Amino acid sequence: MDPTPSPSELHQDSLPVVLRGSCLCGVVHLESKMAPESITICHCRECRKASGNPFLAFGLFHNDYIQWSIVSSTGTKHLLGDLAEGIKLTYYSDVAVRGWCSRCGTPLFMKYHCRPDGTSITTGIFDNEHVAASLPPIKEHIFVKDKASWWDIPSNDGAARHGGFNEPFTRRLQEWSSKGRPQRLDLPPPPFNFKL
Ligand SMILES: [Zn+2]
Ligand SMILES: [Zn+2]
Repeated sequence: MDPTPSPSELHQDSLPVVLRGSCLCGVVHLESKMAPESITICHCRECRKASGNPFLAFGLFHNDYIQWSIVSSTGTKHLLGDLAEGIKLTYYSDVAVRGWCSRCGTPLFMKYHCRPDGTSITTGIFDNEHVAASLPPIKEHIFVKDKASWWDIPSNDGAARHGGFNEPFTRRLQEWSSKGRPQRLDLPPPPFNFKL
């Protein structure tokens, strides 16, 4: 007997793309059939250094609705299943993996091992002219304890503030840790040797 398809498998193909994104050099492309579930602004040290900015804003997407692709020198599009080519991965801890365009260095995403069905995508790669979906308001500021001292969070943005991760995500991390910190199946295991 064939396995019963999940609801997302049934509907995914018929859905239109509502958001497109790309890196600075145009090699890496993102398509999403859903708007991000939420938007989080992270003030942690890694995000500040990685972006060269006081914070990084991420949209949380369900993996079933997004597709990464790269455009080669011959103009051919290659769909990426395991993100093995064109996207450079870095591991600053065993909690998450960061992805970058291997050509221009644009930060693209974070993938937490404790959230295997989701990808936190940097909102700076969204292309304004290709955002047909209405995006949710900013949900929260996280790692406010590491915030750039010279930059003040707007008092009227309506977003929650957390010193580190929010409580549900902290519990998720603890649960993941208690299960032996399993790695995601959609990523090559570290150390991952990439080619620039
Ligand atoms: Zn690029
Ligand atoms: Zn961060």
